[in-house]
Amino acid sequence: MKYIDLRSDTVTQPTDEMRQAMHDAEVGDDVYEDDPTINRLEELAAKEVGKEAALFVVSGTMGNQIAIMSHTKMGDEIIVGSNSHIVQNEVGAAARLSGVSYAIVDNPDTKIYKEDVLSKIRTENVHYPDTGLLCLENALANGTVVSLEEMKELYQTAHKNNIPVHLDGARLFNAATYLNVPAKKIAQYTDSVTFCISKGLSSPVGSLLCGSKEFIKKARRMRKLLGGGLRQAGVLASCGIISIEKMVDRLQGDHDNAKYLATKLNKIKGFSVDMDRVQINMVFCKVNREDFDFQEFAEKLLEKGIKTNSGEGNTIRFVTNKDVSKEDIDYVVECIREII
Ligand SMILES: *Cc1c(COP(=O)(O)O)cnc(C)c1O
Repeated sequence: MKYIDLRSDTVTQPTDEMRQAMHDAEVGDDVYEDDPTINRLEELAAKEVGKEAALFVVSGTMGNQIAIMSHTKMGDEIIVGSNSHIVQNEVGAAARLSGVSYAIVDNPDTKIYKEDVLSKIRTENVHYPDTGLLCLENALANGTVVSLEEMKELYQTAHKNNIPVHLDGARLFNAATYLNVPAKKIAQYTDSVTFCISKGLSSPVGSLLCGSKEFIKKARRMRKLLGGGLRQAGVLASCGIISIEKMVDRLQGDHDNAKYLATKLNKIKGFSVDMDRVQINMVFCKVNREDFDFQEFAEKLLEKGIKTNSGEGNTIRFVTNKDVSKEDIDYVVECIREII
């Protein structure tokens, strides 16, 4: 059965072209830096985000963690948002792998502002840890995008205080699409950046960690330390090349579909979406109805071939992606009306 899957953009299936590219990929042993397809992907990724070098890693989590390991020393503190992937969804890895603690910024909009950075930076004092890194996210996990002006201000503030900036850009290309700029315009305000090819860009596996040559050399060593050295993984990298070259332009379609879905949900009694926050491919819908059972709602949708998360609190997250069409959204809304 074909499902309409709105749980995430990680569920995207590789395209036929990707499957063919996997079949045809020229490969080698990447620990010897001998895989021509991985080398091509890394060059392409670096160029795309305006950095000197890049490293292919198996996941966004691995990219972020290698970045933290490479930028910091044990005992440092990193400045990071309370709702960020690094704090919420990476199993506390920064504490475990890098031995750092978190200076958590907790704003209702989940953004980090200049004032937050200034207030969290540690001064020299025998009692304090050193501030080792500022970790930003763009797009944010709540589906909103940080502007170029804000990025610039944060970057300059951190650099004035000799603190490097890592960007978790899992959805960097969604943010760039929203801002209508090339990804490197955002990445210019970072020292390192991770982006996922396995989400809206539809590759089966992987992320790219990008930065200076020197930084990536260190990161390559850290990847090996984590057991993440790759061999003939050009099979996977071949998809990443297609992601970057051919799947970026279609992200606007996902964003349009998210807006379309949000507009339709807003017409249903008790359902509300803040349209100002529908900036990428994510729709956060609040449900305010008597006796509404989120679990049961998700189960009934599933019976109709629609996969969704059952929600957190009174909010359901819908994520549009390559494998969901506008017609699918019409069907989803029709089913929601029927169920309630
Ligand atoms: C998806 C995501 C990641 C990486 O997730 P992996 O499953 O490890 O690839 C990192 N940060 C954010 C904000 C994400 O949405």
